[in-house]
Amino acid sequence: MSRSSRLMDRALAVIPGGVNSPVRAFAAVGGEPPFIDFGEGAEIVDVDGHRYIDLVCSWGALMLGHAEPSVLGAAMGAASRGSSFGAPTEAEIELAELLIERVPCFEQVRLCSSGTLATMHAIRLARGATGRDKVLKFSGCYHGAHDSMLVSAGSGVATFATPGSPGIPASVAEHTLVAPFNDLETVAEIVRQHGDQLACIIVEPVAGNMGAIGPVPGFLEGLRALCDSSGALLIFDEVMSGFRVGPQSAQGLYGVMPDLSTFGKIVGGGYPLAAFGGRADIMQNLAPVGAVYQAGTLSGNPVAVAAGIATLKKLDDALYERLEALGKQLDEGLSTAVQYHGISYSRIGGMFTLFFRDELPHRFDEVQECDLDAFGRYFGAALAGGVYLPPSQFEAVFLSAAMTDKQMLEVISGLNAALVSAHAN
Ligand SMILES: *Cc1c(COP(=O)(O)O)cnc(C)c1O
Repeated sequence: MSRSSRLMDRALAVIPGGVNSPVRAFAAVGGEPPFIDFGEGAEIVDVDGHRYIDLVCSWGALMLGHAEPSVLGAAMGAASRGSSFGAPTEAEIELAELLIERVPCFEQVRLCSSGTLATMHAIRLARGATGRDKVLKFSGCYHGAHDSMLVSAGSGVATFATPGSPGIPASVAEHTLVAPFNDLETVAEIVRQHGDQLACIIVEPVAGNMGAIGPVPGFLEGLRALCDSSGALLIFDEVMSGFRVGPQSAQGLYGVMPDLSTFGKIVGGGYPLAAFGGRADIMQNLAPVGAVYQAGTLSGNPVAVAAGIATLKKLDDALYERLEALGKQLDEGLSTAVQYHGISYSRIGGMFTLFFRDELPHRFDEVQECDLDAFGRYFGAALAGGVYLPPSQFEAVFLSAAMTDKQMLEVISGLNAALVSAHAN
């Protein structure tokens, strides 16, 4: 019995499912997850000594690889001076200034501890600032595990949502409206019907939680126009796309300005940190200036803030050039197999997905048509070959700038071999 298996048995007794976040349990692909011992650069090593090239990168949070020296040094330095005060520190201002410099819509920003909290607070702020209750989200987009966003589309195309989990009251879910991603007509119809009650439209400008799917031309611009005409606020949830698809995130890449935006993952450099911000006149509604309440004991935590600053300082033009060079190498290395096996591939900056469907999906119902059995075989073969992928067709795959050319060649050959295994039956 492997050490990972023994640890899983032990974990199952004390942690539901053995994991602290469900997707880690490999339920979608079968088998048991390796327990991780340590990471270095672009690689992780499990407790049985297997070494993998890591394409999960803590679900996109790591852009510089594991234990990058400047991030590590900054976090250790901060921790040695006291790990938390619950009082303001200068470094929080520095991180806020760095974020405002780089995120086009940020005039003011507030720090919190997770992406879930960032979107929860941004939505409350949008409701408080507009005095409206309804929010519109897109099927296939994920905004964290809080009640108003953990919903499913009801029946029909443009509908009120139903709870996406037991424990969420229908009376909460009914304030959320759901439309298909990349379907502007349905959004226009919803806005026609409910526009005067709509507090905000929240969207991943590059969807990453149904595989990596970019916005079709005109989609984000159309959302902007519908918000302008209805008075709803536009929120870009860039918890995943932020600093991953480019130096100015998706809002800079596509040139569409939201009113508010949420960040997480990369901005904490692998430590618990997230942020929400946007127009100053809206942000001024937050307590203690305004009446919309929002708080957090560990918000702006010194260790996470130091790691975030160190990470952002590394994200310069040269780094994005390097990331794009790795991406191009990957595009070329997979193109023959993509054609040969009749699958599809998309990459936006440092995130990509191989979809087991011949035509590239643009929305969630199309992703659901993918051959999930083939994905499972591909995933298993990649893992056995030393390439650690997210264990679901519905998750994006992440590159880190720590990857060497040689490691990228190993990824390409590993994925090509896994694709052959996936299609062998
Ligand atoms: C990961 C993610 C979240 C949730 O962030 P957590 O830190 O896991 O709470 C929210 N929105 C998007 C787009 C994400 O990818």
